[in-house]
This record gives sequence, structure tokens and C-alpha cells, in this order.
Amino acid sequence: MHFDSLTAKEVPDNRTTKPHILPIYATSSFSFEDIDQGIEIFKNIESGHVYSRYANPTVDTVAQKIADLETHGLGTEAHAVMTSSGMSAISTLLLGVLKAGDKVLSQANLYGGTTDLLKSIFGQFGVETVFTNLGDKEGVKRHFQQDSSLKMLYCETPANPTLACVDIQALTEIAHQNGAWCAIDNTFQTPYLQQPFAFGVDFIIHSTTKFLNGHGNSTAGIIIGKDKEIMRKKVWHAMKLVGTNCSPFEAWLTYNGLKTLALRMDRHCSNALVLAQFLEKHPAVERVNYLGLPSHPDHALAQRQMRGNGGMLSFELKGGLDAGIACMNRIRFCTLAPTLGDIDTLIVHPASMSHLSIPKAVRLENGITDGLIRISVGIENPADIIGDLEQALV
Ligand SMILES: *Cc1c(COP(=O)(O)O)cnc(C)c1O
Repeated sequence: MHFDSLTAKEVPDNRTTKPHILPIYATSSFSFEDIDQGIEIFKNIESGHVYSRYANPTVDTVAQKIADLETHGLGTEAHAVMTSSGMSAISTLLLGVLKAGDKVLSQANLYGGTTDLLKSIFGQFGVETVFTNLGDKEGVKRHFQQDSSLKMLYCETPANPTLACVDIQALTEIAHQNGAWCAIDNTFQTPYLQQPFAFGVDFIIHSTTKFLNGHGNSTAGIIIGKDKEIMRKKVWHAMKLVGTNCSPFEAWLTYNGLKTLALRMDRHCSNALVLAQFLEKHPAVERVNYLGLPSHPDHALAQRQMRGNGGMLSFELKGGLDAGIACMNRIRFCTLAPTLGDIDTLIVHPASMSHLSIPKAVRLENGITDGLIRISVGIENPADIIGDLEQALV
């Protein structure tokens, strides 16, 4: 072989021991032993890998692990497709299972990006979303009875910023009675704290960017479904053709984070509870929204469908906008950052940060009042988190 050929050739893999940790398969394609193997794999793509946009060993391993966590202890199995972000998980699911003329029934307090996606992108392609109060079961039934083009109920529970919950089982039953699917965004709780398949939902999506990874160093998403045919023929098909596949490196980072999910979530929950109890007693605080507090309007529902109350909380300052800005200016230990689910405590004041450009009336409609502060409570020593809020709230 010539020198320049030697530089260009792959080195054959002759190692006899397997790696202990999942490798990152940084390859766009897979080579075949011979033409017969190529034909076999092309006929039935599941028996081997072809091209990383279709499927990649690193990504597939992580996808199946998350699917197994979502079905753990339920006696069922699920199939998953990992995507490039939480947003692409939602769009890939809808592109795969809906068509022009179909409608989605959903709630007003979705993740902001999801609301915008449904309105501005899917609206353009003839998939309209009807936003309603999913807490009103009779109202939800009426919507389905009056409009047979509603093909999917899409919910998020708990939801920003007040952590309002909806009844997953009741909504799934109504959707199914009307021949529609029920899909849920389980990003806030993760399967450790809430398993929507136990209540019959058809599809679960996650932004794995948040608690599932937990370390704030990757952006990815996942769609998990119980029906293998639909996942394969519709959802995977849409992912493959739209090209919303997850990068093996992002999947690998997620895998790393997943290993400590249970430990992290336990600590997120216990830290959030003590912080919520501290805030509830503080004279500058009007109200605390945390599902672990009996004062939360959805406390009872949350205890029925969740195993823990999560790491997210928000609270309302008596002093409004000025008090919110003053508090943020005094924060020292926590980090001002608009994401959630990282191991360190992240704090936002939506009225002066993420929602600054949104008209006040629209903001208020979504529960984002002037003095509202949201915290993604981390896993640090709780005394440091409480100490920071104590010195910031004066
Ligand atoms: C962040 C988030 C998303 C979007 O996920 P990305 O990974 O940022 O695309 C969707 N739903 C919820 C609840 C989120 O918090």
C-alpha cells in the first residue's frame, strides 16, 4: 500500500475485549462485509446499521434505555426515537402521526416554544391547535364531541410557571373514547417521578436537555411510544426523512447523565421542599408554587400521579417587578440562567428576563406576574441555596 493510501484507510478493529462504557459511534455510515449482508440489512433495517441519520448504535442504546425507564415495572415495552432537541421531538411526533386537517387539543400554559411551534409552524401546514383548559374534563369531552378532527390531546404536567397539573389518566381516557391519541411532555418529572404509560398515554416526549441529562451540556430530545408499528412506520420514518436525528455525542452525554438520575432527582426533590418551606414563611413572599406543599391547588392530584414533587418551584414577591429585579441583582450563589434541570440551582425572573418583550397582558394570561421568580433547584447543599435567597430577599 502506498503512503497516501495508508493515511486514507481505516484501521481494522481487531480488539478482542469489549469496551466497558458505551462508545461514541462517530460515523455517518456503516460498511458491509459483502453484498449479501448489504442486501439483508437494506431489506430489514433493524438487523444492522446503514447510515447514522437512520439509526446509530450510540443513539439507539440511549433511546432504548430511556424507553426502558419509562416502562420500568409496568410490564409493557416501549420504542423510542431520539432527536436533536426537545422541540424536534415534538415536531417529529406531530409530523409523523398527523396530517393536514387533523387538529390537536392542548393547554395554554405549555412550554413557550411548544405553543409557538403549534401556532406558527403547524398552523401553516393545516394542523391547527385548539387551546383549552385541560383541567375542565367536561369541557374537554365537549371539544372532542363537537370536533371529530381532533386527533391528539397534547399535555404537559406539571406546567410552567405555577406547576399546574392535569389528570393524565382522565384525559387519556377521554382522548381514547374519541379515537384520539394522548401525548405528554414529561420533561419536568422524568420517569423516576412520573410514568405516564401507567395512565395509558400513547406517546411521551422529553427534552433530555433538562433533568435526564442533568448537567446542562447537551441538547437532545426523545419520543417514546408503545405501538411498535406506529413508532417504526410513522415516527421513525418522519425522523429519518426530516433529519431530526440526535448526534451520537449528544446522546452519549445524555447517557452519562442518566446514570445518576435517581440520585439527582431525590436530591432535587428534598432541596426543593426545604426551599419551598423556607420561602412560604418569608415575609416578602406572597405565595409559593411547589407541588410538595399542601397549599398548592394541585397537591392532591400530584400525589396521585407522581412519586415525588420534582425540583421546580416558583414564588411570587409582594413587591412586584421592582422586588423581582432587586432580588435578582442580589443573587450570589444561584445562577441566573433560563434553562432548568441542571445539577446547580438556576433562577429566573421571567418579567424582566425571558418574557421582557411580551406584552404585560399576554404575560399575565400565562400566569407570569411581575413578581414571579422561578427556580430550578439544584443538588447543592441546601443551606447554600437557602442562604442565598435569605440574603437576596430583603
Ligand atoms: C426545554 C423544554 C422543551 C424544549 O426542549 P429543547 O431541548 O430546548 O428543544 C420542551 N418542553 C419542556 C417542558 C421544556 O422544558
